[in-house]
Amino acid sequence: MILIVADHKDGALRKSTLELVNAARALAEGLGGEVAGLAIGDSRAADALAKLVPRVYSVTGEELAEFRAESYTTVVSHVAKEKGAKAILISASRAGLSYSPRVALRLGVPLLEDVIYLEVEGEHVIAKRYSYLSRVTETVRAESLPVVVSVKPNTFPAAPAGESGQVETLAVPLGERDSRVKVGEKSKAIIGRVALEEAAVVVAGGRGVGSAEGFTELLEPLADVLGAGIGATRAVVDAGWRPHAEQIGQTGKTIAPNLYLGLGVSGAVQHLSGMNRAKVVVAINKDADAPIFKVADYGIVGDLHAVVPPLIEALKTVKE
Ligand SMILES: Cc1cc2nc3c(=O)[nH]c(=O)nc-3n(C[C@H](O)[C@H](O)[C@H](O)COP(=O)(O)OP(=O)(O)OC[C@H]3O[C@@H](n4cnc5c(N)ncnc54)[C@H](O)[C@@H]3O)c2cc1C
Repeated sequence: MILIVADHKDGALRKSTLELVNAARALAEGLGGEVAGLAIGDSRAADALAKLVPRVYSVTGEELAEFRAESYTTVVSHVAKEKGAKAILISASRAGLSYSPRVALRLGVPLLEDVIYLEVEGEHVIAKRYSYLSRVTETVRAESLPVVVSVKPNTFPAAPAGESGQVETLAVPLGERDSRVKVGEKSKAIIGRVALEEAAVVVAGGRGVGSAEGFTELLEPLADVLGAGIGATRAVVDAGWRPHAEQIGQTGKTIAPNLYLGLGVSGAVQHLSGMNRAKVVVAINKDADAPIFKVADYGIVGDLHAVVPPLIEALKTVKE
């Protein structure tokens, strides 16, 4: 059995969970056995997962309502062992990266981390991942099963819903070590904008935006009218105009939106590798020879400071 651990929020599955399903199906074909899901802390997520995989294990409880690396480690290790998982797939989100190594350690099994590609050769799981600040793509092979695999978000296609699976409720005993870290107060996100990795539309700004104010005065209003997530190039992040969490590219996030708008982005390979899964690419750049135009479906050659304000007004009119 290949076990995937659901990434969810407010009862809904995150897109990364749908990607795990696809990755797991590929492994199940090679290793044999079915794909099963594990939803921790919210039975609504278990029900949603049962629309994607034939069997879902649901583990809930007061102490599991909040994500905690320690308790997730215990639950995932327990279920994987009890149910005989050959591979345990976890999204390489910030949370996933914090507990997947612990699960591997607890079970004493190999870990393939932040992978972008998976295949099976005999009894071996083989993966690709970026290394050395993403300058190198390396191939790694787990020498034994089971194996823990964390999967880089937005690198596998999302699986469509379709199955009608069974949900089985399990009880996993938690101990003192599972609650050594408690989540205190949480401040609300400053802007309730859609998360970059999940966004169907992304507005990305490059050095051509000119300043941090350029982002607040042009990019943010454009993103608001489109209901889009905001992204940036490394040049922008290095300049301190936007946080690293918004960086798209080899050393940033990988995105796969339906629509990507690049404003003042030159289109360096390191940036393109993070957004080349976008379905439609629109570029606004004052340099007609900018490499971004080679990958763009639509392009506007012009100064973004002149182009964006009327674009925002036009989009507002269309929405009304
Ligand atoms: C190991 C390594 C890892 C890296 N990882 C990443 C990564 O993860 N993500 C990433 O983005 N980069 C990454 N880079 C950096 C990358 O190589 C580029 O330097 C960077 O992407 C360039 O950012 P930019 O397009 O904003 O800036 P520039 O290359 O300076 O381009 C600015 C563009 O804006 C246009 N422009 C200027 N003014 C205007 C205007 N008023 N109106 C319209 N257009 C205008 C210009 O014509 C130009 O094309 C990495 C580099 C290395 C070596």
